[in-house]
Amino acid sequence: MQFKDIAGQRDVINRLTEIIDSGRVSHAQMVLGSTAEGALQLALAYLQYLGCTNRQHYEGGELRADSCGECPHCKKMAQLMHPDLHFVFPTAATSSVSGSFWSGDFMKEFREFLLERNARGTVEEWYSYLGIENKQGMIRESDAAHIVSDLGLKSYEGGWKMMVIWMAEKMNTAAANELLKTLEEPSPGTILMLVCESDERMLSTIRSRVQTIKVKSEGLKANGEADAAFAGLLVEWLRLLFKLKMKELAAQVDKMAALNREQQKQFLTYALGVMRDCFLHGAAGLPVEIGSGDQKFDTMFPTMVTMNNIELIEKALDEAIMAVERNANAKIALMQLSFNMSKALKKR
Ligand SMILES: [Zn+2]
Repeated sequence: MQFKDIAGQRDVINRLTEIIDSGRVSHAQMVLGSTAEGALQLALAYLQYLGCTNRQHYEGGELRADSCGECPHCKKMAQLMHPDLHFVFPTAATSSVSGSFWSGDFMKEFREFLLERNARGTVEEWYSYLGIENKQGMIRESDAAHIVSDLGLKSYEGGWKMMVIWMAEKMNTAAANELLKTLEEPSPGTILMLVCESDERMLSTIRSRVQTIKVKSEGLKANGEADAAFAGLLVEWLRLLFKLKMKELAAQVDKMAALNREQQKQFLTYALGVMRDCFLHGAAGLPVEIGSGDQKFDTMFPTMVTMNNIELIEKALDEAIMAVERNANAKIALMQLSFNMSKALKKR
């Protein structure tokens, strides 16, 4: 994960790279904020930047520095395959894993989940990915024991030993007490990265021992705001559907897939509404405004949706919404949608 691939959060990112560049790296860092808004992405990009052997610095841009994305450290981090990168996260017993278990028993699934959702999937989405949505996931003592033992090992690559604790507030008391010992006597060359949506349930003794960075909430929750944010994304996407330049379209699909499931659903529902408006306005010979404020577009799109293709367009979007609800692979579903939409738009 590179910082440039994270939406927004430029101030937070610049603070994180500054911490590393100035050599003030804390062995226990907490990123406090919502995963859907990039908290885990920031943690991963931070660790990638930390070990990057060719850090990039930029003059005058919004982003002042980033990892190179090319060196062996960056490549292993991007695949989440770095041997010194460890994870602990909430789990519960499943049909195939029960008895005495820890996060490591679910690592394959977790890695796939992170790569597929671009590290923006929420904890609820993680539970449904594992098929444990009806259970209370937690980080337990067995996880904490592994934190201690994994960080006690010699570094494979000679650099930092990195431990990411995702949803650290899900630690039970036993795990928290065990973690506290590690925080009090950190073994050299280790970095604990706590990613946490709310620190209220966290022991104050833990809170006082970590350096905290707060993720800005840029919230897509309110409907009006969401529409404004989606308008730009939608217009860019529609333009690319007409051009059908594969490389650009794939990049746009990546952007859409980087939204969390709920936002993807909101985005597709929003798109469906706009398409219906286009159909009605087009038939009446009126323009359609997409978005509002800074993100306002007067468009030529109304005439693109007619009696000949409105049903195909609705079908394509409905199918994509269902695929998102089924937790299908977002990139594949959105690419399929792009092809179906592009075909439909040609039939106007
Ligand atoms: Zn690098």
